[in-house]
Amino acid sequence: MVLAQLGGSISRALQQMSNATIIDEKVLNECLNEITRALLQADVQFKLVRDMSTNIKKIVNLEDLAAGHNKRRIIQQAVYNELCKILDPGKPAFTLKKGKPSVVMFVGLQGSGKTTTCTKYAYHHQKRGWKPALVCADTFRAGAFDQLKQNATKAKIPFYGSYTESDPVKIAVDGVETFKKENCDLIIVDTSGRHKQEAALFEEMRQVSVAAKPDLVIFVMDSSIGQAAFDQAQAFRQSVAVGAVIITKMDGHAKGGGALSAVAATKSPIIFIGTGEHMDEFEVFDVKPFVSRLLGMGDLSGLVNKIQDVVPMDQQPELLQKLSEGHFTLRIMYEQFQNMLKMGPLGQVFSMLPGFSAEMMPQGREKESQAKFKRYMTMMDSMTDEELDSTNPKILTESRIMRIARGSGRLVHEVMEMLEEYKRLAKIFSKMKGLKIPKKGDMSSL
Ligand code: GDP
Repeated sequence: MVLAQLGGSISRALQQMSNATIIDEKVLNECLNEITRALLQADVQFKLVRDMSTNIKKIVNLEDLAAGHNKRRIIQQAVYNELCKILDPGKPAFTLKKGKPSVVMFVGLQGSGKTTTCTKYAYHHQKRGWKPALVCADTFRAGAFDQLKQNATKAKIPFYGSYTESDPVKIAVDGVETFKKENCDLIIVDTSGRHKQEAALFEEMRQVSVAAKPDLVIFVMDSSIGQAAFDQAQAFRQSVAVGAVIITKMDGHAKGGGALSAVAATKSPIIFIGTGEHMDEFEVFDVKPFVSRLLGMGDLSGLVNKIQDVVPMDQQPELLQKLSEGHFTLRIMYEQFQNMLKMGPLGQVFSMLPGFSAEMMPQGREKESQAKFKRYMTMMDSMTDEELDSTNPKILTESRIMRIARGSGRLVHEVMEMLEEYKRLAKIFSKMKGLKIPKKGDMSSL
């Protein structure tokens, strides 16, 4: 993923700088030049990048650094703050209230990924206890209804549309009415796009909006347009009351950083990013955790979200409860490997962990990791309940380790390696201790 490259370049620049014995102006400048280059490559606007660099130089006091304070931390924090500033729209995202049916209308140009994103959005909420439904009010593009129908069926989400009715307003109104009667609490209306911004598109959008009375209008945009996202987001905002933005195809384009910062500059909150064609390649976008992850500092709230995606709904409360109490046992590790193997994609989950950048888990290496998890699970199959449920690794004495190795047909050093991995993960998950776990209904801001 392109953002992983951006994050990787920034992390490397920080690392190189902190490896230097003395941090003087020259070393700091080199580091900032590297970061600047990486951001410009991601198509972030030149002025923003230049201001960021100037601000960091102002904030970072070289004398403090020379005095042996943790240089990397100080500069990383300054980079973090500045990147957050660039991406912060200065306005919180719109919150949908549970308990009454909400209507969400999707708008965007044709090909932006609007229809795909409608289903991803519905699926995301379905996993969090909502009862979503999809309405296809796109009568402009041939095949739009079939596409929505296919996606909705795959995700087991009810849908509404027509092959014969050509009035999008009528379809939108009928669809919303139908699903209100069926007690759906999140009714998503997909509207037509056009190849370019044109009067007919905006007029249709306005008409559907007046008739369907959406609680929220989400504008979907393709990240490949980079900085040009500013003009497009402005144009849509001026025609219809856009409450939130979703940026798609962040997996494939070098210009993702530009699109994110440009949209933020229009003061529109970005709520999700699309990171692939599949239903679960969809991430909640929240500035601070996002930047934190970009810089390899981890993203625990993203991890909670991923757990909600990957772990079956009935197991989530217990797992989150255990993690927030600081219990990470070998059994939990076993069950999570099992879930990840079933649901994947591992890279997405690991990139949320502090100390892992997405770059360290490249997509090509997923098969290797899967084989490793399976190996570990075979070893854990040879453990007793007491061993699996303990949070104290000390109970695994030498003789027990030898028994596990014999039982699973593995070498002692492989069992030790698995236990090391467990300890490392336990340390990471221990950071979740005390973390406030969102309740089902509290995910409504998404
Ligand atoms: P619409 O015309 O705006 O409704 O766009 P579609 O939903 O039909 O999507 C257009 C193409 O973009 C399809 O091939 C989708 O699979 C693809 N697409 C949508 N979102 C993403 C994404 O986040 N990443 C990638 N790689 N492809 C996407």
